[in-house]
Parts: sequence; C-alpha cells; structure tokens
Amino acid sequence: MKPALIVHGGARDIPDEAVEACTSGCQRALAAGWSILSKGGQALDAIEAAIVVLEDDPVFDAGYGSHLNLDGRVECDAIVMDGRTLGAGAVSALQRVKNPIRVARAILENCPHMMLVGEGAERFAIQHGIPLCDPEGLISQAERAAWLKCRKDKHAAAHHRGHEQGTVGAVALDKDGNLFAATSTGGTCCKLPGRVGDSPLIGCGCYADSEAGGVSCTGYGEAIMKIVMAKTAVDLLRQSAICADSPAGASCEASTAKVAAREAVHLLSKRAHGTGGLILLDRHGNPGFAFSTPRMAYGYVALDGNFVTGV
Ligand code: ASP
Repeated sequence: MKPALIVHGGARDIPDEAVEACTSGCQRALAAGWSILSKGGQALDAIEAAIVVLEDDPVFDAGYGSHLNLDGRVECDAIVMDGRTLGAGAVSALQRVKNPIRVARAILENCPHMMLVGEGAERFAIQHGIPLCDPEGLISQAERAAWLKCRKDKHAAAHHRGHEQGTVGAVALDKDGNLFAATSTGGTCCKLPGRVGDSPLIGCGCYADSEAGGVSCTGYGEAIMKIVMAKTAVDLLRQSAICADSPAGASCEASTAKVAAREAVHLLSKRAHGTGGLILLDRHGNPGFAFSTPRMAYGYVALDGNFVTGV
C-alpha cells in the first residue's frame, strides 16, 4: 500500500504575518512524519513525530505556546486513534506535559482505559517514562501577553494575532495499511479551568476506521461536539466507499475525500452554527480537507511525493 500523510495547524483567521510560520510548521511536520513513512515505517510513529513538531512550535495552539485558561495556565488535550482496532488513547487537562500526544500514545498502547484526565493522566505519564515539566515552561511570551490583555480588556481575537484557535492534527497511512488519526490542542483562550472541547473526544475531534478513513478536526469545539464531526466525516467516507465498491458505483471514489470533508464542514455551519475545518485520508490514502474559517494551515504529501502546504 502507498503511504499517505496529511496535517493541519488549525482553522482560524491566520493573519498575513503568521502565514509563513504556519506553512513552514506544516512542512516540518510533514518532513518528520514522511521520513518515517517513506522508509516503510509505522503510521503510529509517523503521526507522533508530526504532532510533536506541531506541539513544539509556538505558532500553534498545542503543547508549548498553547492558549492560557482563565487562571493563566496551559491545559492541554490530545488523542490518537487506531483505525484497525478502533482503540484510542486520549488525555485532557494536562498542565505539566510538554508533548501531550506522547501520553495519548502511551494510553493507547498500555492502558485498559481510553481516556485519562488531569492528575491521573500525569501520574500515568510518569509511570510510562514521560517526565513532567514546569507548567511555566509551556507558556510562550505571546500567549502571556495576550492573556494579560484579555484580563484587562474584553477577550478579543485581535489579542492573539489572529490565532484564536489553532489546534493541530495529523492522519497517516503506512505501507501495511495501518491508519491512525491524532489531534492535540491547548483549547480555547480564557476557557474555564477544566473545560474539555471536542479535540480529545473520540468521534468529535478525531476518528479513524481503516474500513473508511481517518479525520482530525479543528474549530469551535462546542459546535463540533454537537455534530460529532470526525465520525460524521468518516461515515460520509463509508457511504461513498460502499457506493464505489458496488458494481454500479463505478468511479465516485476520486473525489470522495474532498466531498466528505466539505459536507462535514457544511453540516457544522448549517446544523450547529459553528466554524471550523478538518483534514482526512480515505482508506486508500486520498487526502481531503475543508474549512469555513478565513484560513486553515494544512499540508499533505502529494502522489509524486512533493509536500503541498497552504493556508
Ligand atoms: N477545537 C478546539 C477546541 O475547541 C479549538 C481549535 O480547534 O482550535 O478546544
């Protein structure tokens, strides 16, 4: 099977001056994941490598540089899902972990549960060799300044140089047909402490099923949850796959990925009055993406092996 990889750095109103940083962040995430997949490596390793790059980059709202909650603290959520088993590892409200995706992976591989939150998740991290960090070490200067402005003034997107929402995500397919999807976020700015958005929730911010495809979402979490957007997009892929498999269905598969992405985002605005976006790979590795925000940072590996990035 031909490997495939797609990433995103959040659907939002990315200002012109941040476009370069967002596209180069997506390029570096693709490079990290593709260096594994193109040598025959595993999708799970590739997806973790890609997400770690995005989490470490302060232009994105995940890991270091996440938005601060109302108390001025970083609280991160992440999930990774295995399309073959439908198992997932998810974490929420982490305050002392540099790369939440690593804890999500440890849960997927070593835990009888699918989701751990707060202190319990951090204890699990230590037990599985993932050290805790100083919570202050996750706060970027830009986010501290934005938070201070929000405290003084009314919360406004302008305080965040336009990166009001900037979750990261990736979907990867390896040569053995293993399909994984992952999402990681600092959530929304000035959220109430303890708030959990769509991102770490199976079916909402992320879903993967090898029989249909894998999805990672971004955007207004309280709306995305209402339409269970990631699972909705996978269901759209499944319907199309059935149609393509049937003798009468002939060749609807070529545009399936794009149509499913567009339909899910359309439903988000029509039914839940929310804005956002998503990336996906169908079960063959065809990429699709869509967004209803002014911009979304994305990147994927084209059929010729070139990296395509955009906002
Ligand atoms: N969906 C994320 C949340 O609501 C935010 C985002 O995607 O930017 O936490």
